[in-house]
Amino acid sequence: QSGSKGPQLRVGLIGDPVAHSFSPRLQQPALDALGIPATYELWRTPAEQLLVRIRALCQQGCLGANVTIPYKESVLPLLDVVDPLAAQIGAVNTIVNRDDYLHGYNTDAPGLLRALHEHGLGSLQADGMISLKGYTAVLLGAGGAARGAAFALASSGIECLVILNRSLERAQLLAALIQKSYECPVFSLSDSNFLIPHSSSIIINATSVGLHEEASPLPADVLARFNADTFVYDMIYNPIQTNLLLQARTMELRAANGLSMLLHQGALAFELWTNQPAPLEIMRAALMR
Ligand code: NDP
Repeated sequence: QSGSKGPQLRVGLIGDPVAHSFSPRLQQPALDALGIPATYELWRTPAEQLLVRIRALCQQGCLGANVTIPYKESVLPLLDVVDPLAAQIGAVNTIVNRDDYLHGYNTDAPGLLRALHEHGLGSLQADGMISLKGYTAVLLGAGGAARGAAFALASSGIECLVILNRSLERAQLLAALIQKSYECPVFSLSDSNFLIPHSSSIIINATSVGLHEEASPLPADVLARFNADTFVYDMIYNPIQTNLLLQARTMELRAANGLSMLLHQGALAFELWTNQPAPLEIMRAALMR
């Protein structure tokens, strides 16, 4: 640590509940490692206090905040500026206080792309974006996390996106939304209809199936029909190995859990607050602990 004599800074997590969050464990060691005199706090916020909490981020010494369930959507109208990708997705998970103006970002979506790249997929472009040109993807789910993932995949230049969800209507709505902004073909299917292209190179689970039970969002016989070079990414990170990942690994498919996305969304938020490169390996080690 630098032992800086500057004023104490603050940043925190706004949500309800927040006690379960990994964010302090991820962010505090990174702030400390760069000698930034800031504390990462948990700001549990009941709905009736949300407006006051958000506007309080303009206080001197406040870098900004992360936003989690249930406020990722409802904070948008409370901010001064919303980044175009976050506006498209309709969800903000990072707020930055810049000269008393609150700027909202979504780092979940680019965090997913960085995670996929870390696992060997796609290519890094000169502008820092990840390109998934040439890949096709099957996205399982159409909730909040899937929405960010769908925009991330579409923005990465993916060849084709299939959205598969329990309720077909939500998958259709998400597909229509993506097609308003992107040209890539997007198909929607219900999860009782597994007629999906087996040449798909990425399967992403953005449902909560596997979070609390041993179920898998994709039957093993369907997974078995995918090509051997298919990569399976489960956004769930706790448990670290879901049934889907176990099935994939048993079939010798490459697979990873959502820890890498958690890491990269946090690193991107850190960079927005501090304007400094995030100490990725320190954050990764903190998360692994
Ligand atoms: P939502 O509640 O918004 O969406 C849940 C999704 O799961 C919906 O598509 C829902 O389908 C589907 N689903 C739920 N239960 C079932 C079931 N029994 N059978 C089939 N489908 C089901 O949740 P989020 O989008 O916020 O989160 C989804 C997952 O992503 C969570 O597990 C979360 O932990 C993870 N996540 C990981 C992150 C990371 O950094 N790694 C970041 C954010 C989320 P339907 O529309 O039919 O209800």
